[in-house]
Amino acid sequence: MALLLRKGMRISNFVYFLFAFIVSITSLCASERVAIIGAGFSGLSVAYELKEKGVIADVYEARPRVGGRVHSAWMDNPDGTVTIAEFGAQNISDGGDAENIRDLAAKLGLAFETCTVQPGITDYQDGRFQDPYFAMQAYLEEKPLNTVLAELDSMRDNPRYASMEDVLDALFPKGEILSRTFSAWLQGFEGATPSVLWPSENIDVLYSMVEYLTCLSQKGSGTLFHPIEITSFVGGNSVFAVALAEKLEGQIHLNKALTAVDEGPDGVLSLYFSDGTHTHCDQLILSIPTPIYADIEFAESVIPSERLAEFALVEPGSASKILVPASTSTSWLDEGIFLGNAFVFSCGEQAPLNFYFSGPWGESIAADKDKRFLHAAKAVHAAQSGLEFPKTMPVLATEAMFAHYDQAVVKGWVEDPFAKGSYSSFGNKLGGRFGETIDYRGVSVKAMFVPIDDRIFFIGEHTTILHDVIGTMEAAVESGRRISRLW
Ligand SMILES: Cc1cc2nc3c(=O)[nH]c(=O)nc-3n(C[C@H](O)[C@H](O)[C@H](O)COP(=O)(O)OP(=O)(O)OC[C@H]3O[C@@H](n4cnc5c(N)ncnc54)[C@H](O)[C@@H]3O)c2cc1C
Repeated sequence: MALLLRKGMRISNFVYFLFAFIVSITSLCASERVAIIGAGFSGLSVAYELKEKGVIADVYEARPRVGGRVHSAWMDNPDGTVTIAEFGAQNISDGGDAENIRDLAAKLGLAFETCTVQPGITDYQDGRFQDPYFAMQAYLEEKPLNTVLAELDSMRDNPRYASMEDVLDALFPKGEILSRTFSAWLQGFEGATPSVLWPSENIDVLYSMVEYLTCLSQKGSGTLFHPIEITSFVGGNSVFAVALAEKLEGQIHLNKALTAVDEGPDGVLSLYFSDGTHTHCDQLILSIPTPIYADIEFAESVIPSERLAEFALVEPGSASKILVPASTSTSWLDEGIFLGNAFVFSCGEQAPLNFYFSGPWGESIAADKDKRFLHAAKAVHAAQSGLEFPKTMPVLATEAMFAHYDQAVVKGWVEDPFAKGSYSSFGNKLGGRFGETIDYRGVSVKAMFVPIDDRIFFIGEHTTILHDVIGTMEAAVESGRRISRLW
C-alpha cells in the first residue's frame, strides 16, 4: 500500500481499479455477439436490460409478432362495443405483486387497469346446475375445516400421494361435485391436470381453495367475500411486448424459427432457421417454452442430451381458450361455471366471455372447436338465457396482433407449434428437482437451467426462481432481467 501511495495513487482509486478488474473477469464480455431466441416477455425483457448495459443482442422470433403466449385482440361485440380479448395471459396479478413487470412498465410509461370477477362457482353437469357451496357445507358438517386442513398438511410430503389426483381422491368422493370442482379449479389454475401435479408444491393451492370455498359457503354472513381482481395493461397485455420491441428497434427478426444449433472449431455457435438462413453468435440466450427444445437439433457440445431429457420432464400445461363476444348491455354471468374440464367466466362488465379449457379438453381444442364451443355455450344459455350470443361456430385465432373478431375465437396453446403447452407448473415427474436453485457467478439460477460454459443461457417462465408464481408473465420477466445481470 505504501508503494501505491508513493506512486501517488489514492486508496479509493486502488479500490476502484480492483473492483473494475473483478467485474471484468466475472461479467461476460460486452463485445461478444449475443443472440436471443424468442420474443416473448422473457426474451424481450433480457434484450431490453442488456441494451441498457450497452449490449445489443439480436432477437430471433419464430412468429410474425412479438409477445409469445401474450396475445391481445379486439372483440367487436353485438351491442357495438369493442373490448380487449386476451388469447393467452390476462391477469398480471397472477404474478403476485409483479414487481418486475411494474418496474419495467413504469419505465415504459404503461398503465394498468383492473376488472373484477364475481367469485361464485356453479357446477354444470348433465344439464343441471349444482351449487358446490352447499356440498361444502354438508361436507364440513361431517368433517370440520381444521381436520380437512390438517389432513391436507399431512399429505404434503407423504410418498403415498404421488399426484394431486391422489390427494383429491383421499379427501372427496371421486366424480362427485366437490371432487369435480376442486379438480377443475386446480386444473384451471395450474394449467395441468391433477394427475400430473406434484403434491408437495401444489397442496398449498388446494389448501387455499378449500378455505375459499368454505368462505363462500358462508356467503351472506361473510365479510371475507370479495370479488377477484384481474389486472391487465391498458390497451391489452400485448402493449408491453410492443413497447419493449420499440426500444429494441432493428434488433428483432421475426419469422425466424430456430431449427438447429452447432459449434465451429473456433467455438463460435451457428444458428440455423426454418427459412434456410443462418447466423453466428458467441452467446445464446434461449427463451423458448420447454416443449420446443425437442424440435431443435442441438449439437451435443452445445447442450448435452441429458440436459434436454430433463427439460422434457417439465409439465407444460394445456390451458386454452374460446373467447366469445357478448353484449355488454345485457345482464352478466353472476358466477363462474365449472364444466368439468372448462371454466366459463366474464370479467366485470367486459366482453368477451371466457371459455377456459384445461386438462385433456385444452389439448385438442382447435381440432374439436365446435364440440367444445357448443358444450360451454349450452351451459351459459342455461345459466342466462337473455345473453346475446353469436350463433356461428368459432374461428381459429390468427397470429395478427390486435386483430378484430366479431365471432367466437379459439386459441389452442398445445396445438400452437411455438408453445406446445400453456404454462409450466410443479409436475410429479421432476418433483423437487424443478425447484432447486444454485448460485451461478453471484446470480441465483434454477439448477436445471444453469448456464452452460458461460455461453448458453436459459430463460422463460419455467426458469424463474419465484416459485410461488411460476408459469406467469411476471415469472418470464423476472427470468430475463435476472440473467441480464451476468453481463
Ligand atoms: C391460456 C393462457 C392463460 C394464461 N394466463 C395467465 C395469466 O392470467 N397471468 C399470467 O401471469 N400468466 C398467464 N399465462 C402464462 C404466461 O402467458 C406465460 O407464463 C408467459 O407469457 C411466458 O413468457 P415466456 O417469455 O417465458 O414464453 P413465451 O411467451 O412463450 O415466449 C417464447 C417465444 O419463443 C418463440 N419461439 C418458440 N419456438 C421458437 C423457435 N424455434 N425459434 C424462435 N422462436 C421461437 C415463441 O414464438 C415465443 O414468442 C397464461 C398462458 C396461457 C397460454
